[in-house]
This record gives sequence, structure tokens and C-alpha cells, in this order.
Amino acid sequence: MTTVLGLVSLAASAMFFALGALARQIAGVRYWAVGCLAIGFATVLDGPRTIDHWQWASLLFNIPFGIGQAYMLTGTLDFCRHSHGRLLLPASAAVAVALTVGFTFVYPHTAWRIGTLCAYQAVFNLASAWIMFRYPDTFSRRVFFVAGTVASLQGLTALAQGGLVASSSLTFDYGAPQLPIANTISWAGALLSAVIGNSMLMLLIMLRLVSEVSAAADQDVLTGLLNRRGIRRKFDLLLARHDDEHSAVGILLLDIDEFKKVNDTHGHETGDQVIAAMGAVLRALDDGRTTASRWGGEEFCLVAEAATPRALVELAETIRQQFEAATAVLPGLAQGCTASVGVALNEAGTALDVQKLIALADAQLYRAKRGGRNRVMAAAPDGGLFDVSSAR
Ligand code: GH3
Ligand code: MG
Ligand code: MG
Repeated sequence: MTTVLGLVSLAASAMFFALGALARQIAGVRYWAVGCLAIGFATVLDGPRTIDHWQWASLLFNIPFGIGQAYMLTGTLDFCRHSHGRLLLPASAAVAVALTVGFTFVYPHTAWRIGTLCAYQAVFNLASAWIMFRYPDTFSRRVFFVAGTVASLQGLTALAQGGLVASSSLTFDYGAPQLPIANTISWAGALLSAVIGNSMLMLLIMLRLVSEVSAAADQDVLTGLLNRRGIRRKFDLLLARHDDEHSAVGILLLDIDEFKKVNDTHGHETGDQVIAAMGAVLRALDDGRTTASRWGGEEFCLVAEAATPRALVELAETIRQQFEAATAVLPGLAQGCTASVGVALNEAGTALDVQKLIALADAQLYRAKRGGRNRVMAAAPDGGLFDVSSAR
């Protein structure tokens, strides 16, 4: 049965290696792969039961097992974006080696050797659990909770096993102690970890991949802003929340002026730099209540929550000015590019109709273009119209 458990760990290790090769950007997976390999090796070999020479048995079980635990914790830290686990790794591996060598050769004592390894395992598993409870991905919070619970239970079984061995009145020989309850608890902990714990970790990797792929599908590569699909999703969220809050929602539609000329005169590469410059301006202005997107081509759409007409128009003006300044310093361009902006606001307390709001902003953008470009036009709250930039 122990051999089967060890083989399950080795199979998990192979899976982690394969997942790590497929998704190199996901941190921690390779540490889990090495951790399962070391634990699987120790468990399949099952030194204390299969090797007659007790000192070799002790070394060949405790050291890979202890190092495996350290790798598993480092993997969890890395996966949860705490890379200092990598510094912890050599220190904790050294502790596993020191404890084993110490209680095998220097001061041979079975109860101490097993008790300290159990305490070591408990600390690593409880630390893993704490990290998973504390730093879950919002996308997969529940799976983090289950994985953390499994790691806690595994830590508690290690504590129980260590406590039973350390407090037993039996005098052990140098090999494994014949303490059926402790052995059963240890076996239950290993089963939990190998079957459920590792499956949860694999599920976490899959969910992280799904969330990354889905975020990438919503993102525009050139500007780093949301793309049209991403901003539509944002609208859906806004609409769902708006039913309760009825707060003001503002929309800015921005279009780079005479952009075709930039492409024709300076080439597409420079054109791309101009688009990226607008992306950088919009990202820098994001204060958490505005969400900017690349609407398509050289057009951008920005949604501002809880906006006032004044704040909205000021924001549009700021973007217009900053974009011109940012493109003025681009190599190859004699002067800065300009943009026209259409602004529309859905005032607080009124029902939100996103399509209508976009159409309103688009009408203002059209007016800005017809009015000579490089300006902000907004629908005034009283239904009238005003040209903000022309007053500057
Ligand atoms: P207007 O002031 O009226 O907005 O004129 P415009 O030239 O900006 O508008 P028009 O719609 O005629 O041209 C937009 C150009 O944007 C055409 C298209 O080739 C270019 N474009 C769209 N996407 C990209 C892109 O990703 N990179 C580059 N370099 N050009 C792009
Ligand atoms: Mg356009
Ligand atoms: Mg344009």
C-alpha cells in the first residue's frame, strides 16, 4: 500500500513537470514537481521497512522526504507570488539533513529522529496551509481553501504521529517503531496529501491557466489596455451593479486625429508607437474608478464610475493634453499628435443604457471632428452641448 502511495506521488511529480513545461510562466510548479519526486522516491523505497541496515534506511527515507517537504512549501510560496521561499529552501533542506544525520550518527535516537522529522513536516504543511488561506487567487478562492484544509490536516497528522512516537513508553530499536496508531495516522496523512492534496494543486494550476488565458483574451497587446471584449465585460459588471447603486457613469470616446497621415508619412511602426503612447497615458490616469480600453484601431473608450460632468470633462482635457505632450517627444515626429474626445454622462439616479451612452459620446466625438479636431465635446447635463476645448 505504501508503494502505491509512493507511485501516486511519482505520477503527480510527472504531471507537475509536464504542467510546468506547458505553462512556464506559472511560478512554483517545478518546485512541486521536485517535491513530489523526492517524497515519492522516499515512499516507494520505504527504507525503514525494506532496508536492513537501519542507518542507510534512515538516511534514504528522511533526507529525500524532508527535502521534498521543503520543495513543496517553496512551490506554494512561489505559486502565491512569494519568491522568498527560494531563500528558505537551502536552509530548510539543511535542517532536514542535520536532523537526520544528527539523530542517526551523532546521537542515535529513533524517537527523536522520527519526532523531529514529524515536527518539521508539520511546520511545513501548516505554513503551506496558512499561505493558501492568506493569499488565494480571487478566481479560485474555494479551491485554495480546500487545498489549505488538506495541508492543515496533513500537518496535524504529522504532529499527532510525532507526538505519539515521542510520548510512547515503548523502547524502540534503531529501525522504525512498531506503533500501529502512529503508523496508521502517518499513512492517512500521506494518502490525503498524495491523492487529494496533489489533485487540488493541479486544479489550482489549471484554474490559474484559465484565468490567465481569459485575462489575455480581454487585453490589447499593443497598449496593455482592455480590448473591446474586455470593456464589454466591464459594461456587464457595471450594469449588474447599477441596478442597486444608480450612480453616475461617464463615457469618453477618443479618436486620434488624422492618424492615417501618421502611418502614411512615418510608417506603421511609428503609428504603433503613437497608439501605445495613448495606452500609456490612459493607464497612468487609471485611479481605480476609470477603466480604459482600446475600442479598435486608433479609437479608445474610457468608462468612469461615480463621475461628475466637470470631472469627466477635466479628465478628457487632461488626456488630450498629455497625449499631445507624450507624442511630441516620439522620435521621428516633428510635433505631437492630437486627439478628439466625445463625452457623455449618465447622471446618478437614472437608469443606465450603455448603448445609448456610447451613441451619445460618439455623436460628441463626431462634433469634435467636425469642429476642427483636437478638442473635447460633451453633452451638457441639461441636454445642451458645449465645446470645452474651444474655451481654452
Ligand atoms: P480622423 O482625424 O478623422 O480620425 O482621421 P484618421 O486618419 O485618424 O482616421 P481614419 O479612420 O481614416 O484612419 C485610421 C487609420 O488607423 C487607418 C488604419 O490603417 C490605422 N490603424 C488602425 N489600427 C492600427 C494599428 O494597430 N497600428 C497602426 N499603425 N495603424 C492602425
Ligand atoms: Mg477612427
Ligand atoms: Mg482618427
